[in-house]
Amino acid sequence: MTVRVRFAPSPTGMFHVGGARSALLNWIYAKQQGGVFVLRIEDTDAARNKPEWTEGILSALDWIGIARGTYEGPHFQSEYAGEHRAAAARLHESGRAYYCDCTREAVQARTGSQYQGYDGFCRDRGLEPGEGRALRFRTPDEGETVVVDLIRGEPTFENKLIEDFVIARADGSPVFLLANVVDDMTMGITHVIRAEEHLPNTPKQQLLWEALGVKPPVWAHVPIVVNEKRQKLSKRRDKVALEAYRDEGYLATAMRNYLMLLGWAPSGDREIVPWSVIEEEFRLAEVNPSPAFFDEKKLRAFNGEYIRALPVEEFVEACQPWLTGTGTIAPPPWQPEEFDADAFAAVAPLTQTRIAVLSEIVPNVDFLFLASPLVDEAAWTKAMKEGSAELLDAAVAAFEALESWDAESLKSTMEAVGAERGLKLGKAQAPVRVAVTGRTVGLPLFESLEVLGRERTLTRLRAARVRLV
Ligand code: GLU
Repeated sequence: MTVRVRFAPSPTGMFHVGGARSALLNWIYAKQQGGVFVLRIEDTDAARNKPEWTEGILSALDWIGIARGTYEGPHFQSEYAGEHRAAAARLHESGRAYYCDCTREAVQARTGSQYQGYDGFCRDRGLEPGEGRALRFRTPDEGETVVVDLIRGEPTFENKLIEDFVIARADGSPVFLLANVVDDMTMGITHVIRAEEHLPNTPKQQLLWEALGVKPPVWAHVPIVVNEKRQKLSKRRDKVALEAYRDEGYLATAMRNYLMLLGWAPSGDREIVPWSVIEEEFRLAEVNPSPAFFDEKKLRAFNGEYIRALPVEEFVEACQPWLTGTGTIAPPPWQPEEFDADAFAAVAPLTQTRIAVLSEIVPNVDFLFLASPLVDEAAWTKAMKEGSAELLDAAVAAFEALESWDAESLKSTMEAVGAERGLKLGKAQAPVRVAVTGRTVGLPLFESLEVLGRERTLTRLRAARVRLV
């Protein structure tokens, strides 16, 4: 039997990091089993679907390493409406489903509770299809439904506690529970690896498989992802869109490594490992079923390590979208013609060790490309003290006289200028840094001045001096 798994997102606007993780788990499982990964877009909620969201899913998958053209699909749930209706009809004909015209209010009035499920009122009324009549599945009164779950063992559900649930609305359209099962059946899915949120649906869905006469799949319900307060990650409260991480400058390699560590770890005391190791060592059965903490700080630290491990040419290449403002990434503060690729290449190794996400490249190098630096006023006030004007004068004079404009000479010159005033280098260079870069922190100063060049450095020092008058 060929293993066939699927990732079945609903296109609802953004691609959740939890979704990316489910996709990766399916992807790896298929690969390990020599199986097939199917992408199915569950687009039947017409009011909430837009074609660009489907495109967003494809490109997010592509980014994370599940490349277009390397899997089956995308199939679209909306194209299987005929199969959904046929399955509903079969269940009705075989007596496993019945029509029901109860309103919610009527059920509540009978059961006396809004929380209790359907009371089975229409079970034996033999209603024909008609206006206001939904189709309900007749769940067994006895026995248990045992779900075989690769992560959770065998969660067992008592059938008498499962209500007769709706499988098709009064207009004949199938609900999620049925459409999802029929699609999995039609697509020959053998393993359903999906979010834990769906576990309550699983006994109902397994009953549908059985009623339709097909062996149910093996399930694996992947633990939910929570924030630092142990709350389920929510798009209203937390940063959950994969695209947001991508645009901030997380590397796909770091992101997918991190996502795989939610509830699982490779052998030894390792966390950062090549993808090939994960593909080899990962075992679905080893995934911890308890909620997994999505630790953004840790992800950031991971990303920094991944950035530092890049060969410098790849780092330069990876920075390009932030240096130019590509797609959904905001443009940098300089004009395209102000950018100097050679100057950037010269400081790239210095920035590579300092940033945790690629977007941080911009505030680190903007002083190189802007005609005058963007001055952070708080930094200015902090750095410019009594005596700063004279210190800048002295620095200008000493820098003007320098024979060779290189980091080492600049540094020893600045040391000398400071020493004359009884200042250590750190203190002496602060006004120079703010005058030239606009900030109190940044790349190593003298390397920065070397790349900026004599003329621009002196112009900025003089301009700052004027401001101090
Ligand atoms: N469209 C469903 C979702 O995004 C799929 C559920 C499943 O994987 O079965 O939650």
